[in-house]
Amino acid sequence: MIKPTIQDAINAQINAELWSAYLYLSMGMYFESQGLSGIANWFRIQFKEEQAHAEIFINYLIQRGGRVELKAIEAVPTTWESVSDAFAHTLAHEQKVTALINDLYALTEAEHDYATRGRLDWFISEQVEEEETAQSILDRLKLIEGDGSAMFMLNQEFAARVYNVPSPLAAKA
Ligand code: MG
Repeated sequence: MIKPTIQDAINAQINAELWSAYLYLSMGMYFESQGLSGIANWFRIQFKEEQAHAEIFINYLIQRGGRVELKAIEAVPTTWESVSDAFAHTLAHEQKVTALINDLYALTEAEHDYATRGRLDWFISEQVEEEETAQSILDRLKLIEGDGSAMFMLNQEFAARVYNVPSPLAAKA
């Protein structure tokens, strides 16, 4: 049986992952409205990945005999100034999520819950990738700035992004 403190923290993290999903879906919908369907596709895939993150925590809580409690999802922004603005927001958001995962990791150590700590290793690596990806896209956008044809190419490139089921969920399927 999982400790109530860990269960509460995982339920909070499920909510944070679903909020992230909602944020990226909102970004996707904004760029659909701007005629940038490739950029929108990139965020719509990010939305699915965040849903998968929530599901990984959900499955883990069930596996440990815990109780999943779904809380209200706070409203998300609905407009951004530019593609760069959305990716800057993405990077800042992922840095916050990294801090949340680190706090959860510290809690598992304080509570001597080494099973949960082990499960968080995948998320710690995932956050390194999330931050690196957002930073590298932001770097490219700085070079593109004001270049319509370069933005056209990026939009086409991002239209090709496909969803891959994250390994902890794929392994369960
Ligand atoms: Mg996530």
